[in-house]
Amino acid sequence: MKLLSFIIPAYNESANVMPLYTRLQSVLKPLSDRYTFEILFVNDGSKDTTAEEVTKLTKADTRVKLIDFSRNFGKEIATTAGLRHCTGDACMMIDADLQHPAELIPDFIAKWEEGSDVVVGIRKESKSDSWVKKIGGKIFYVILNKISDTEITPNATDFRLLDRAVIDAFNEFKETKRLTRGLIDWLGFRRTYIFFDAEERLHGTASYSVWKLLKLALNSFMSLSLFPLKVAGYIGIFITSFSLIAGSYIFLGKYFFKWYWALTFSDSEDLAIFIVFLVGIILMSLGLISLYIANIHEEVIKRPLYVIRKERE
Ligand code: UDP
Ligand code: MG
Repeated sequence: MKLLSFIIPAYNESANVMPLYTRLQSVLKPLSDRYTFEILFVNDGSKDTTAEEVTKLTKADTRVKLIDFSRNFGKEIATTAGLRHCTGDACMMIDADLQHPAELIPDFIAKWEEGSDVVVGIRKESKSDSWVKKIGGKIFYVILNKISDTEITPNATDFRLLDRAVIDAFNEFKETKRLTRGLIDWLGFRRTYIFFDAEERLHGTASYSVWKLLKLALNSFMSLSLFPLKVAGYIGIFITSFSLIAGSYIFLGKYFFKWYWALTFSDSEDLAIFIVFLVGIILMSLGLISLYIANIHEEVIKRPLYVIRKERE
């Protein structure tokens, strides 16, 4: 029988632990003649009784396990810990707040059995999202796909199933600032998608404030792309070329074609364009330094050079 692990990051979810468990139970029961299960809760430094609630479950059900963080490290690190500790032939990541419909789990498993390595849940639309989150999310994906080499699917969630090969490959990542689903997308593998309607959060409020999301967005830009580092250089190239053209125009107009171009420029205008030109050069130098830093960055995070899907036996 194949073992399937569930990875559930939980931060202040005490009221959701039990309902989630009962819901999982009813979904998993019909599958239990073909699969065994492991339910891994990662308590991400909750300030409420989440750990106690999970401990109750671990006592009643040996399949339930708890990883208890010393403090809040954020969902990305919590899922990472879950992926490192799970022992299944595949794992399924699911939020603790019941926003991910557990009833779809058999569909995820079916896709996996058909040969997909990664089955990604794509969120249709959430009623509970504020417009800031909606528009922010749209902008985020547009920018991310423009600047990164990895193809990132909009509205892809952490509600996904990973084959053991993907889990092992994922565990090779060493970087501390990370976006779990971004790194999974970087890995590639055979992917399929399942669309779902996000439900309302059962209890509590979403702990990802706009500020926290903004920080996460910045981290993903930095983790998946070196473009932000090179921006200064690009701006520099633009400014220098622009001021060079404008400067030559002024210079020629002033000293050579005075009688021809009826243009007059004051000395301070000359100076201004000259300073802008120099600023462009400074920015270009910064961009050059960034290229070196980018190389250092890539060496330091020590990503695997390549990922093998399946080795021929
Ligand atoms: N979560 C976590 N650590 C955090 C914040 C959230 O482990 O610092 C968990 C949370 O308990 C939930 C999941 O990550 O299971 C998604 O969090 P949330 O519902 O706040 O985010 P959203 O649904 O808005 O993506
Ligand atoms: Mg949620």
